[in-house]
Amino acid sequence: MGYAWKGASVTRLMPTEESVELMALVEDFAARELAPRAAADEAAGVFPRDALRDMGELGLLGLPFDAAYGGAEQPYEVTLQALEELARAWLSIGVSVSVHYLACFPLAAFGTAEQRDRWLADMVGGSLLGGYCLSEPHSGSDAAALTTRAVRDGDAYVVNGTKAWITHGGRADFYSMMVRTSDDGARGITCLLVDGASGGLTAAAPERKMGTQSSPTAQLILDDMRVPADRLMGAEGGGFTVALAALDAGRLGIAACAVGLAQAALDAAVAYAGERRQFGHPINEFQGVAFMLADMATAVAGARALYVEAARLKDAGLAFGTMAAMAKLAATDAAMKVSTDAIQVLGGAGYTQDFPVERYFREAKALQIVEGTNQVQRMVIGRALARARSSS
Ligand SMILES: Cc1cc2nc3c(=O)[nH]c(=O)nc-3n(C[C@H](O)[C@H](O)[C@H](O)COP(=O)(O)OP(=O)(O)OC[C@H]3O[C@@H](n4cnc5c(N)ncnc54)[C@H](O)[C@@H]3O)c2cc1C
Repeated sequence: MGYAWKGASVTRLMPTEESVELMALVEDFAARELAPRAAADEAAGVFPRDALRDMGELGLLGLPFDAAYGGAEQPYEVTLQALEELARAWLSIGVSVSVHYLACFPLAAFGTAEQRDRWLADMVGGSLLGGYCLSEPHSGSDAAALTTRAVRDGDAYVVNGTKAWITHGGRADFYSMMVRTSDDGARGITCLLVDGASGGLTAAAPERKMGTQSSPTAQLILDDMRVPADRLMGAEGGGFTVALAALDAGRLGIAACAVGLAQAALDAAVAYAGERRQFGHPINEFQGVAFMLADMATAVAGARALYVEAARLKDAGLAFGTMAAMAKLAATDAAMKVSTDAIQVLGGAGYTQDFPVERYFREAKALQIVEGTNQVQRMVIGRALARARSSS
C-alpha cells in the first residue's frame, strides 16, 4: 500500500509517510528558494553555493546516506524523486546535488570505517561540497585510457596531469579523483579523495557552455599535488571499479534530473497552450497541439517509471546497472524531445528569453552527454544483451 504525494504537476505513490513529508518539504523549498532565482542566476552565471549550503542544513545533500553519518537513509526510489523536484525548479541545482552524491559514493561505499568516521559526516551534511574527476582532455568515453599519474612517495601520492570537464571544478571542497598508479589498463586506476585546497591543484577558467551556467565546469591542473596515502578509496588499482559503481548510481541521478527538466518544459507548454488563442480558440483545442502535449506527457511519465523501477532494483540489492543505463538514455532523450516540442508549442514566444523553454532546451543537451554519452549507454545496454544471450 503506497502513500499519495500530490505535487504541483503529478501525483505519485511514495513508499512511506515520511517520504510524502520529504517531498512536500522539497517542493516547498524548490518553489520558494530555487525557482524564483533560477533564470536570473543562470543568465548571470552565479554558482548558488548559498542555496546548496541551505540544502545541506535541511539534510538534502545526504538523502541516500547512512543515518550514522547524518544522512537521511532514504531509499533511492525516494532520493531520486526528490532530486527530480529540485531539477524541475532549477536543473543546475539538481545536477549539483547529483554530482555531490557521486562524489560521496566512493567514501561511503568503499572507504574504511576509519576513513568514513573522519570525513563522511561533513560531506553528507553538505558543509563540504564534492566533485567527481574521471574525464581528461584525451579520455572521455574511453575513460580507462586516463593518464593522470600518481606516484607513491613516502606517506603520500604525488599526482600530475589534467582532469577535464569537472562539475564544481575549482569550487568543490573535495574531489573523488581517478588517477593512474600503474600501466595495467583499467586495473592501473586508483581512486583518491583529494582536498580541494591541495597545493599543486589549480582550476582553469570555467568552460563557456551553452547552458547550465550556474553549474561551473572546469579543468583541474595537477602539478606535483601531494595526496596523503590514507586518502586511498578502496584498493590501489581498484579505482575503475569504484568509478563505474559510482556512475551506475550517478546515471540514475541524471535520469531523475532529466525528468524534472522535461516536466518543467511540459508544464510551461501546457500552461501556454491553455492561454494562447488562435482562430478564436485556445490552441490546446487543436488536435495538432493536443497530440504534441499528449506525447510529451507520455514521454515524461515513461521516463519517470523507468528510473523509479531501476531505483527499486537498487533498493532491493539487485543488479540495476543496465536498467540505470536505460533510464539515463530514455530520460535524457525525452528531456531533449520534450523541451524541443515545448518551444514549438509556444511558437515565436518559445524562441525568446521571455519564457524558460529555450533555456530548458539548451540545458537538456548537456544531459545527453554527461556521465556517459547516450551512445555509451547504448553500448552498456547492448553488451548486457549480448551477455544475456551467450549465458542462456
Ligand atoms: C557540462 C558537463 C559536465 C561534466 N561533468 C563531469 C564531471 O563532473 N566529471 C567528469 O569526470 N566528467 C564530466 N563531464 C565529462 C563527460 O562525462 C564527457 O564529456 C563524456 O563522457 C564524453 O566524453 P568526451 O566529451 O570526451 O566525448 P568523446 O568521448 O570524445 O565522444 C565524442 C562523440 O563520440 C561518441 N563516441 C565515442 N566513443 C564511441 C563508441 N565507442 N561508439 C559510439 N560512439 C562513440 C560519443 O558518444 C560522442 O558523441 C562533463 C561534461 C559536460 C559537458
